[in-house]
Amino acid sequence: MSVLKRAIIFIDELIPPEEKSNNPLLYKTAFLKATLMTLLAFIGSVVAFLYAYMDAVEGDFLVSVVDFAVGCVLLFGPLVARKRKNLESVALLSVFLLGVMFLIAVFDELPKDKASLIWLSVVPALSFLIKGRKALYWSAGYLIIHFLTVTLSGKLTMSSLIDAYLSYTLITVIFYFYAWMSERYREVWSNMAMTDSLTGILNRLAFETIALKEISKAVRTNTDLSIILFDIDNFKQINDRYGHVYGDFILRTVAEIVSRSLRTSDIFARWGGEEFVILLPNTNGLRAMNVAEKIKSRIQFHRFDNGLKVTASFGVANLKSCKDFDNLILKADEALYRAKEKGKNRVEACGLE
Ligand code: GH3
Ligand code: MG
Ligand code: MG
Repeated sequence: MSVLKRAIIFIDELIPPEEKSNNPLLYKTAFLKATLMTLLAFIGSVVAFLYAYMDAVEGDFLVSVVDFAVGCVLLFGPLVARKRKNLESVALLSVFLLGVMFLIAVFDELPKDKASLIWLSVVPALSFLIKGRKALYWSAGYLIIHFLTVTLSGKLTMSSLIDAYLSYTLITVIFYFYAWMSERYREVWSNMAMTDSLTGILNRLAFETIALKEISKAVRTNTDLSIILFDIDNFKQINDRYGHVYGDFILRTVAEIVSRSLRTSDIFARWGGEEFVILLPNTNGLRAMNVAEKIKSRIQFHRFDNGLKVTASFGVANLKSCKDFDNLILKADEALYRAKEKGKNRVEACGLE
């Protein structure tokens, strides 16, 4: 296996399970974050080993040992994170240790060498990258520790103190707003990625992501779960007769009717075209058929503004008779196919106990 392939597998294993989305864009973001953290840990360890070397040369053996230990933690941190499946905690511990190392360096070099104060701002910058806006507490905490140790020791002149703390505060403010903006963008973007733009309900990708989680929960807790797949009847004719724009309006209206008929725990999505899907957790096959019948009637009896009425055909399947998500969809699709064959505007079930 090539080095690149090994690196990709390693980074993939670092991604926390809850961030392992089957949405390619979300996965890519999680992958990039894990790559960045690994790179930072590596660079941090190089810096720490360099410090260890320089301190050893200068005869500061105790400081050198601390630097060396921090370097080791940073170098092996990603391996521990992979094993414990907790990248964030290991990353934060690394930042904390780096912070301690910078503190010792500053304390050691002052007052003759003030350049080491530059490293101070690395702590808030890294913390915000790892923890987002919540890192404000870390940043403030580190500043307080710094104040209590370095400033109160009286080793700093007023001007270098103001320089160091002003730049620290500025970096904290900039990163805070950067974290806030990226959280907002992420929220908007992930909503867009999960929503069907025509109807405003969930899209297929979002449905698959949620359904997989719900199914593994149902299997784990041995609870019921059903699925309803439905398709608007003769939609091509409706489109041909009333136009595509009116067809879109019908799709939006049907989505609204169905949304109003469901419980908040039910997951409703556009499967594609004029086909929709509903996942019903804690619902047995019989109850799911009743829900499908209710929705069928509500669609059937809705009169559109031009007097038009539409119907839909439904396929129902239950998890008890299926082994996984693909099988569940397949069973519901078979039932839907039968409903169409038997004359449309009806509910059929597949393999219900
Ligand atoms: P059946 O009763 O067997 O389901 O027949 P049907 O005409 O509904 O099914 P068919 O698969 O032949 O046609 C589906 C139509 O749905 C064709 C396609 O143009 C239309 N359609 C798919 N997506 C959209 C959409 O987003 N907006 C509109 N207006 N029409 C769409
Ligand atoms: Mg159809
Ligand atoms: Mg269809």
